[in-house]
Amino acid sequence: MPLTIAEGEPIDAMLVIEYYDRSKESLRESRIYFLNIIVNMLRDTRQKTLYEEMLYNSAYFDQATKLANRNMLIKRLEQIIHDKKESGEIAVVVIELANLRIIKDTFGHNIGEQVMVKSATILENILEGCCYIARLNEGKFAIILPNVENTGQIEEHANKILASFSDPISTDTKIEALFVVICIGISVYPDHGRDADTLLKNADLASYQAKNINQKIVFYTEQLEDNIAENTLFINRLFKSLQNDEFFLEFQPQISCVTGKTVGIEALLRWTSDGNKRVPPDRFIPILEQTGLIYDVGLWVLEQTLQEHNRLMAKGFPPLRVSVNLSVVQFQGEEFIPDFARIIEKSGVDPKYIELEITESLFSKDPEDVLNKIYQLKDLGVNIAIDDFGKGYSSLNRLKLVPFDRLKIDKEIIDYIDLEIKEAPLTEVIILLGRTFRAGIIAEGVETKEQADFLGSIDCDEMQGYYFSRPLSSKALEEFLKRE
Ligand code: C2E
Ligand code: CA
Ligand code: CA
Repeated sequence: MPLTIAEGEPIDAMLVIEYYDRSKESLRESRIYFLNIIVNMLRDTRQKTLYEEMLYNSAYFDQATKLANRNMLIKRLEQIIHDKKESGEIAVVVIELANLRIIKDTFGHNIGEQVMVKSATILENILEGCCYIARLNEGKFAIILPNVENTGQIEEHANKILASFSDPISTDTKIEALFVVICIGISVYPDHGRDADTLLKNADLASYQAKNINQKIVFYTEQLEDNIAENTLFINRLFKSLQNDEFFLEFQPQISCVTGKTVGIEALLRWTSDGNKRVPPDRFIPILEQTGLIYDVGLWVLEQTLQEHNRLMAKGFPPLRVSVNLSVVQFQGEEFIPDFARIIEKSGVDPKYIELEITESLFSKDPEDVLNKIYQLKDLGVNIAIDDFGKGYSSLNRLKLVPFDRLKIDKEIIDYIDLEIKEAPLTEVIILLGRTFRAGIIAEGVETKEQADFLGSIDCDEMQGYYFSRPLSSKALEEFLKRE
């Protein structure tokens, strides 16, 4: 029997989750039901809502493995450091499944996910609750060893982890069992950092080094100074990159679930340093942000993207919506709005074809100023999309104030969709939330046909991901559009 909630009546989140679990009602009924909940939530924001509870879970726990995620790990590590009394050390161990990407590219996304989940179980079993474990991202886990006596003990743990991956992992397909190659990076409190962020960053750097030099276990030590020196080198190079034309853009198509055609493109920044060596955006964009260089680079990205829009139109393609990513540092620039307005006006592009992607983390500093600027951007006539939605903690109270036009559902949530039982309550709630706000919905990181089919069946508007296309050069994009 459907559960009805009267207007303004408080909502018991647990009841709702239980109801959803038990419910064998048709999808349509559950949809109407959730819509009711959302409308109610918007009326009574004092309630801890189902939505916020679900997002709390997705903000602090990894959906695929049910392990804690990075946010939770940081919280826990801060607590452990804070409570630390006796002597002894705390070790942070980052474990990377070094060949996961290759497994995914060779055998497909689903097999890759199975290998990842089984690896998580191996780690959990071997650690037997003695330490705290979390999944950081695609193929990376982290473990906190809260009370270790010495380096020898840490190494013992690391070796035990290595040994547990010496047998191949079987998947439920005909493919033979797969070996997982792991690399381990370790940092130790207090020598390698006194706060959670630094310890995790240094253990991560050590794992990065382990992978690069093909070594199984690397402790964060002076040998990593090279890497830090690389950062300094990057900073110097990045300062000259705009003049030296070392930046370029790739564009990833965004596909309508209704027509199957490209309706938009997202511009993604690329950098080749040192001749032709590509540096991943995750590596150089934080440096651009720290140095403030992202301000000028961001203006350049907008300018180039609008040129691409005009170029494609001149070639006879229908007008495509173009999206660019914004960083919080850009919002802090005094001339941010006039600079954007000038570039848009000069390009002659109709602002309705321009979309600016922001993340909710933008609101962590001076939210009033940020919101004010978002309204000024809206006044220019452009669209606002909320990127990585569902990845961090979302507050419905705040979301209500933001004039957004689209929600981009984060890849992590898309990965969590259980394609076998065809259930995706969180994705469906986000879609309904979008409807309630009269915003469009786009799913990110769609890698398989099954994901695409399922998203189409639950009324998602658009999709973006490797299944349709990787980010493309301008020339390759043109070819892609011609083939449609
Ligand atoms: P994002 O905005 O979330 O961009 C989507 C990222 O997902 C891109 O990574 C894209 O290549 C990747 N991606 C797309 N489809 C798939 C898929 O099916 N599977 C997987 N595994 N990945 C997929 P990329 O290009 O490495 O960019 C990383 C991040 O760098 C972006 O994340 C964005 O936050 C930032 N970024 C990129 N360009 C700019 C820029 O011009 N300005 C600013 N401020 N940030 C940018
Ligand atoms: Ca984006
Ligand atoms: Ca994103």
